[in-house]
Amino acid sequence: MAYKFGTKAIHAGQSPDPSTGAIMTPIFQTSTFVQASPGKHQGYAYARGKNPTRTALEDCLAALENAKHALCFSSGMGATDAVAKLLKPGDEVITGNDLYGGTYRMFTKVFANYGIKFHFVDLHDAQNIQNYINENTKLIWVETPTNPTMKIVDITACAKIAKASKITFVVDNTFASPYLQNPIDLGADIVMHSVTKYLGGHSDVIMGALMMNDETLYERLAFIHNSCGATPGPMDSFLVLRGIKTLHLRMKAHCENGKAVAHFLRNHPKVDKVYWPGFEEHPNHDIAKKQMRDFGGMISFTTKNASIEDTFKLASSFKVFSLAESLGGVESLINHPATMTHASIPKADRETAGVVDSLLRLSVGVEDIEDLLEDLAQALN
Ligand SMILES: *Cc1c(COP(=O)(O)O)cnc(C)c1O
Repeated sequence: MAYKFGTKAIHAGQSPDPSTGAIMTPIFQTSTFVQASPGKHQGYAYARGKNPTRTALEDCLAALENAKHALCFSSGMGATDAVAKLLKPGDEVITGNDLYGGTYRMFTKVFANYGIKFHFVDLHDAQNIQNYINENTKLIWVETPTNPTMKIVDITACAKIAKASKITFVVDNTFASPYLQNPIDLGADIVMHSVTKYLGGHSDVIMGALMMNDETLYERLAFIHNSCGATPGPMDSFLVLRGIKTLHLRMKAHCENGKAVAHFLRNHPKVDKVYWPGFEEHPNHDIAKKQMRDFGGMISFTTKNASIEDTFKLASSFKVFSLAESLGGVESLINHPATMTHASIPKADRETAGVVDSLLRLSVGVEDIEDLLEDLAQALN
């Protein structure tokens, strides 16, 4: 039976423990599993390959993205690394020009050394991809909404282009979460998540995940997963299973608070630009409306005539928002992309992508909105 999102968030992949009836999936804190005779076991042999707590989480994550399979990694970067290892020297990748800083760093500083070529392209119009496709193109990697300027990439259009040239198409769905957007339904081959963010939701776990339908792709990625070993432990898997049970409730609150904060900022005399896909004047608002269920709690903004010193002062003057990297937790965070999350991107490339020194990024949490708006008002004063 096809359950709705909230029911899946609470139940998918989980059933009472058969030995005790415990309603919560136990934390199987074990590295190995006893075998009756060599090779005769209950599906679990060694916990790098498979652990029952992680299996429950993987089944839950697959259900949330309407996928057949999921694999959990010890970080989002671990998940990205596994996808890049599908490639070989000479292969080419087409990706966006305002990627998550860590993804850009991995592509340019690690995998470029293995003879893989990356094209960083403005994906405001997905058709731009066509200009970079040749017989070596093996992967299209897209983030939407992008980080931190909240650009929207048309997933359906990218999927059509990828399919026509038999290129594997991956969407980093971290910013939207499966509550707001399901790329596999729109034609993506693989969905990647930094589970650290909205899925975990409580700023207490680092984890990544990949979801996919294709059996061959799953087998290849599961082989890399076990062979390279960036797999998470059972305690972290349990914490994420627990966090996901409120994903739908949290996302509703993130979206409501995000909308209020975006409008507050747009009307504030000291604020210059506000980046949020829910505004009608957002350049790809129509695509956002088509592929997302709501617009989320991630917002970036610049202030008028602000020097980097002014921006540092502003970033340090909040009382409810905490100055920190990361996003997607229950608590509101503020971040200075140019010197924090995106510091590894060269200044010129960064500024082309809109990550100027006066840009601040908010991860709007689920606190009471009156307190968040008051905090913004006093900090901007
Ligand atoms: C955080 C993040 C990552 C990396 O995930 P980690 O869990 O920190 O390794 C990748 N993509 C996006 C969009 C992110 O926000």
